[in-house]
Amino acid sequence: MRSIIFKRVFFSFFIANVVFGYGSVGHKTIAYIAEDNLKPEAKQKVLAILGVSDLSSIAAWADGIRGQRPETSGWHYVDIDVRTDQTVDTISNYCVNDNCVVNQVKKEIEELKIAEKDGTLDDAVRENLKFLIHFVGDLHQPLHCSNDDDWGGNGKTVLLFDPDGGGQGTEGNLHAIWDHLIEDYTVEDSQELACQLESSITKDKEEEWVLGTVESWAFDAYKIARDKIYPGFTPGPTPTDTVVALSRDYYSEMRPIEDELMEKAGIRLANILNNIYFPQTQSVETVSETAKVFPTLFCTETEAVLVNTSASESNIRIKVHNLMGKTVLETKVVSVPANSSLHVSLDFANVDNGVYFVSIYDGKAKPKTIKIVKNKTQ
Ligand SMILES: [Zn+2]
Repeated sequence: MRSIIFKRVFFSFFIANVVFGYGSVGHKTIAYIAEDNLKPEAKQKVLAILGVSDLSSIAAWADGIRGQRPETSGWHYVDIDVRTDQTVDTISNYCVNDNCVVNQVKKEIEELKIAEKDGTLDDAVRENLKFLIHFVGDLHQPLHCSNDDDWGGNGKTVLLFDPDGGGQGTEGNLHAIWDHLIEDYTVEDSQELACQLESSITKDKEEEWVLGTVESWAFDAYKIARDKIYPGFTPGPTPTDTVVALSRDYYSEMRPIEDELMEKAGIRLANILNNIYFPQTQSVETVSETAKVFPTLFCTETEAVLVNTSASESNIRIKVHNLMGKTVLETKVVSVPANSSLHVSLDFANVDNGVYFVSIYDGKAKPKTIKIVKNKTQ
């Protein structure tokens, strides 16, 4: 990034100087992606514990309580220095008294696992879950995992131009700009954004992203700050009455980076919750019980994953109905060999946006029906 420093000689409105992690659109988008990737059993448990109908409604809760509960402030970030050599192993040096986002994510996971094992369900568990959903998001905001002697970018005053590189520019601090990169200009709907982002998540990416540890995920976010956000700046806060103009391409260069971080956060959060509430060791008997449709919120195409854990071949048929019960799509009978799985693509390109029900018949059990939503045509 090339930047120009100049004295402030103009008037511009100030982006809210809030240091709360992704803005609510970012946190909600991550929650939608996560929810869409939960196993049905895990989703049912998570929503029942929270007492809500979707995860996005509580995703920004932890930011809202910071004022009344200042002891939770340090749980949202970890200030890893970008000017010295760091490794995954040195992150703990920046988690003073275990008071940082890395430790907090690990703590919430452990406490939720114990509660699930013991069958505990109380306000403390509900709170653990709300914190976890939020902090996995914060962990993927690069300026929540880095510091340049500038309070994680809060001390650097910058000028951000419009997404197309035009306009007078909007003045704000670097941290807040990253928190609000999505909503300051585009004010996107988080559900639609989740849908768009999910359409680019491949199976390979998903498998790669869930690997690693909470520390290695924080380190990846740190490296983005160190290698892509901070170069071009002088260490420390910008001097009083000066502002650093970001490149006119800043938004278009950084937005895809932030998009991918949100995708990773959503997939990893889903994986954490699946491991707590529906661990792999739980097996199911028939094809219909292990059928899954992914994603359930999509743009043009969704996929049914049919898993046959029985010792004999299963013949499956899939029908998609609209709210009126009319069949809009139907597959031929597909054979799933014993102890294997099959992916069947469902093409909705010529089907209107709306709510549909996918019914999967295996000829043995009652058909399994999954609700899906075609959200947008790209
Ligand atoms: Zn936060």
